Amino acid sequence: MARVEIKGLRKEFEGTVAVEGLNLSIKDKEFVVLLGPSGCGKTTTLRCVAGLEDADAGEIYIGDQLVNELDPKDRNVAMVFQSYALYPHMTVYGNMAFPLENARVAEREINERVNRTARLLQIEALLSRKPAQLSGGQRQRVALGRAIVREPSVFLMDEPLSNLDAQLRVHMRAELKRLQKDLGVTTIYVTHDQVEAMTMADRVALMNKGVLQQCEPPRIMYDRPVNKFCASFIGSPPINLIPCDVRDGGTLDAGDFHIPIPEQLVGPLQESSADGVFLGIRPQDLHVSHEGVPDASGVVVYRFPSSSVPAEVYTTEPLGDATILDLKVGDKLLKALVAATFEGDAGTKVVIGFPPERIHLFDRGSGRAIG
Ligand code: ATP
Repeated sequence: MARVEIKGLRKEFEGTVAVEGLNLSIKDKEFVVLLGPSGCGKTTTLRCVAGLEDADAGEIYIGDQLVNELDPKDRNVAMVFQSYALYPHMTVYGNMAFPLENARVAEREINERVNRTARLLQIEALLSRKPAQLSGGQRQRVALGRAIVREPSVFLMDEPLSNLDAQLRVHMRAELKRLQKDLGVTTIYVTHDQVEAMTMADRVALMNKGVLQQCEPPRIMYDRPVNKFCASFIGSPPINLIPCDVRDGGTLDAGDFHIPIPEQLVGPLQESSADGVFLGIRPQDLHVSHEGVPDASGVVVYRFPSSSVPAEVYTTEPLGDATILDLKVGDKLLKALVAATFEGDAGTKVVIGFPPERIHLFDRGSGRAIG
């Protein structure tokens, strides 16, 4: 088992910088997911660790060994691809045994390791079949099995679930997460699917344009994004981002509405040199209530009295267990996630409250989080 240390990794393809200045320390047994939009450099990073690409600069350590100059076969890593890359003319047994035969492992041990892995993955009954006789989920297990039998120090997985249908993907992501913990093998896993990343990872490493933006456990990625890109990439529906001017050091002016700057952000905002900001609020955090419901004494009381604004339901998107409301505030549209029992259709007048402790601010120029 091994830690993986990536220091100052850079990789360029004919003028395209795929990865720039990447520093990432992955602990022994840890499950780190490289996440980011298409073309952000995830696969290139994984291929550099595997030795399938040469780094232009930087160092890669597996365990205590600098592996930059080592052949892929000598790095003790096993890769699982999206395409599975199974040999069609070989049986499942043959596919799983192949890497061990190549490594000249004794036949008896091959037999034992393949059977043990097949038991673990519950594919014993499939050992004599060819890949064409398997379902997508079974092929995926065989591909995993072929990586597991090698007992590598590190698993490198590139979108291994993306060829499966949605239901099987959800099932396999839980299985894979459990398997990784049971085997205790350090794993780097590439995906562009933020839900997959959030549900599986010990830590999510979010990349954009070849540059690592943030690497934290899923909950911190969600609660404390370091910039506007991280805030909008993680979370579904995506976070609402509203451009605001800062007035008199105490008010956020969105044009269509004003709310006070949350107390905890006043100091950091003053310290930043931000001219304008984006107010970020997740759809799950917006508080939506029906307008004008008076309390016993006839006074209309809002839960967030100083940061509530009138709005109108523009459209509703029922999900079954919850509903997404698209809310119109002046000419702005905000999304809120509310209980499925929420009553109100297009045109319904509501009041939306911004819980001060759930507000994020981002520098409008640099996109960096404030506070
Ligand atoms: P995806 O999710 O679409 O696979 P990714 O985040 O894995 O994307 P990479 O495949 O690492 O991204 O690609 C990063 C950048 O490097 C892209 O601009 C891509 O076009 C470029 N690139 C990758 N491999 C090569 C190559 N062999 N030759 C030229 N350019 C390449």
